[in-house]
This record gives sequence, C-alpha cells and structure tokens, in this order.
Amino acid sequence: AHLDRIEATEPKLHAFLHVDREVTLSQAREVDSRIASGEQLGPLAGVPIAHKDIFATRDMPTTAASKILEGWRPPYDATVTARLRAAGLVILGKTNLDEFAMGSSTENSAYGVTRNPWDLSRIPGGSSGGSSAAVSGYQAPLSTGTDTGGSIRQPAAVTGIVGMKPTYGGSSRYGLIAFASSLDTPGPFARNVHDAALLHEAFSGYDPMDSTSIDAPVPSVVAAAQAGDISGMRVGIVREFAGDGYQPGVIARFNDAVKMLESLGAEIVEVSCPSFDTALPAYYLIAPSECSSNLARFDAMRYGLRVGDDGTHSAEEVMALTRAAGFGPEVKRRIMLGTYALSSGYYDAYYGQAQKVRTLIARDFEAAFGQVDVLISPTTPTTAFPIGERADDPMAMYLADLCTIPSNLAGNAAISIPCGLADEDNLPVGLQIMAPVLGDDRCYRVGAVLEK
Ligand code: GLN
Repeated sequence: AHLDRIEATEPKLHAFLHVDREVTLSQAREVDSRIASGEQLGPLAGVPIAHKDIFATRDMPTTAASKILEGWRPPYDATVTARLRAAGLVILGKTNLDEFAMGSSTENSAYGVTRNPWDLSRIPGGSSGGSSAAVSGYQAPLSTGTDTGGSIRQPAAVTGIVGMKPTYGGSSRYGLIAFASSLDTPGPFARNVHDAALLHEAFSGYDPMDSTSIDAPVPSVVAAAQAGDISGMRVGIVREFAGDGYQPGVIARFNDAVKMLESLGAEIVEVSCPSFDTALPAYYLIAPSECSSNLARFDAMRYGLRVGDDGTHSAEEVMALTRAAGFGPEVKRRIMLGTYALSSGYYDAYYGQAQKVRTLIARDFEAAFGQVDVLISPTTPTTAFPIGERADDPMAMYLADLCTIPSNLAGNAAISIPCGLADEDNLPVGLQIMAPVLGDDRCYRVGAVLEK
C-alpha cells in the first residue's frame, strides 16, 4: 500500500531519490519467513520505513543527494540501517536531502527539490526534507533523518510531524556519510510521539564502530511516551528565544502550549541562556570547518564520479575537475569557509573562538537544567517558506536554525512536536522540547502528554 501511495504521489512531492519495488518486496517476504520460523523481532517487525539517503544501504544506492556520489552502492550497511533491518523493518526507499545535509530546505539537492505536502509551493524543511515529506504525505509511516544543526527538528516542524534529535552519541554515526562529525546525530521521524519512541529505541545504543558512541543504557523513551503525566515538572522558557524574526502565528501557538503545560500541572519558569545569541555564528564556523575536512575524501579516486580521466590530465587535475563538477554551490561555499577558518593564522581567531563559544553554550544549558527539567521554544521562527524565497540568501536560510543549533553544539536531546497551525497561513508550527544529555526520555514524556 505504501509503495502504491509513493507511486501515486511522487510526481508531486519528489520525496524519494530511490525506490525499488522488487527490493522492498523481497525484504518484506524475508521478514515474513523470519516471523514464520519463530524469530522474535520486536514491535516494529514488518513496518515499512524510508531512510534519508545519507545512511549507507547495501542493497540500494547512497548519494547524499550529491552528483559526486551518483550511482554509488555501498558495500555495507550503516549501523542504523543494519539494526532496523535486524528488527524487521522493510526499506521503502532512500529520501531526498540537501546535498551532504547542508541546508534547511532540501533545495540544495543535486536531484531537484522536495515539496511540502501541506502546500506544494513551499519547502518541506531540510536537510532531511525528503524524510519529513514522506511521513507527512503518508508515503511512509516512519523515516530516519540526521540532525547536525536542526535537520530533523526543523523539517518535522514545517511538515506537522514529530522529529527527534537524540543525545549526541546516543545513536551511531557508523555508515552515516559525515558532514560535521562532532554534531551529526541520527534520529527518527514519525506522525506521533509514541511511534517516534519505538523507532528511537530500535536503532539507538552503544556501537563500538563509532568512537563517539556513548557506552550507557538507552534512556527508556517508549516507557516515557506512555507515562502520561507531567505534573510537578519544571519547564523553562528561554528568554533569548524571542524578539525579531518570529512569525506572530508561531508565537501564538507557542503561548498556547505554555498554557496547556501549566494546566497539566507543570511549573513554568523563565530562564536566561545569554550565550545562545552567539550559537548561530559559532555553528557556521564549526560545521563548515568539519565539513571541509570530511569532504576531502571525495578525491575522484575512491567513490562515484571521476571527471577528466582520459590520459591527458594529472591526478591532481582529475581531482580538481571532479570536485568542481561533483559538488554543488552550497557545499563549495562551506568547503571554502571551513578551509579558510582552519588555515594557519586564522585558526585561533575563528575556529578556536567558536569552540570557546560552544563551551559557554553547554554551560548555559547545564545551569538551566539545574533549575528546570526541560526547556521549550518554538522549533523554527517561521512556518514553511515558499520554494525559492531564501535560495539566493544564505544568511536568511541560516536563520531557520536559530532555535535548534544550541542543542547540537551542546549535544543534548531535543524533539519537535506538532503545535497547531499558524493563523496567518494555516501551516504547521513546531514546539521544541529540550532535555539534558541522556535525558531523551523527558522529551518524549512531555511531548506525548501535550500531543493528547
Ligand atoms: N541547516 C543547517 C545547515 O545547513 C543544519 C543542517 C543539518 O542539521 N544537517 O547546516
């Protein structure tokens, strides 16, 4: 049924980069026979899922929406992919994204934009916009994404679904094509909080193949989603997440959520996190710096595309020609920015400073979580914007991440849940719930109660 739905809606949405009916159906048959032979597969056995095309899959291509990886077929599965396969989930296909997960709108894909199911003239968010559109548009009940600066929470918010960024290190990066390794975090998309929790638990937990994986028990997020009570919890509102740039309809829905939390017995406290104002510039130094280093591996020798290999060019020329042809403009912009920020003489002024800001942000979170159990904010300052509106203005595009980036820099858990529609455009608004490192269960507990 989902394959049929995909076939019927793809001409409008373009959420997928790769769908292969035969591969999907053979996976489904395999799960059937595992169940028939008495294997215990857990609660998601047989449920179809769409994977962001940045997770390695051994039976489907993996491109990160870049020309430089066109046609690449990984010889192995990412840990997220492998664990979900083992749990009996069936892969519907690979979803569109901003090239190498760099963007907030999915307009930076080398293979065309994905459209928002609520309004086809608008963006589905990004970078995991294919995964958010697929779940929002009923093409898939579940999908995976990655969140480096907001790329799960922001697309979830603007398409009216649930998206969770787990604690950094709580979900494995092995087999996830790297953008900014100290920030990249795999996480789930679903249409409700409980489904997201089931998926979260199915792929999370320690992985020896990822050196930054946390060797600690996975927080019990499914139980938390079923807890059903938040009375006595202390909920903080961050003073710095307000002011210019927020759409009135977003603020109105946020205020409704605050009232609802109060009526459910939560205590609302205003907290101040002064360093959050500097999170955006710090992120846009750290993320490009790490990207410039990570993307050096696309050298025309190891993967996919190779341009100019005709006997008349040197290896260096083939590398330069391939990277010039294979990377899109946003990726090039970030490689240039990052290379500059890391170069000797500038390192201390830019990258070093940004790392110090990162420490201050983590300390702000620590101080805040000394006073409250969770922090809340709008997920994004505005609802889904029209396709093309910010395409030529990187600074306007970067503002979409204003509220999500602090949690990436500090590594703590944060979820976006649907929070009604904005009055001025009838488009979905997201509520962000942030919790301490390894406090992922709190995001689900509060989210599930509000959802009801
Ligand atoms: N929009 C942010 C960026 O472009 C975040 C991307 C992400 O989380 N992958 O870097």
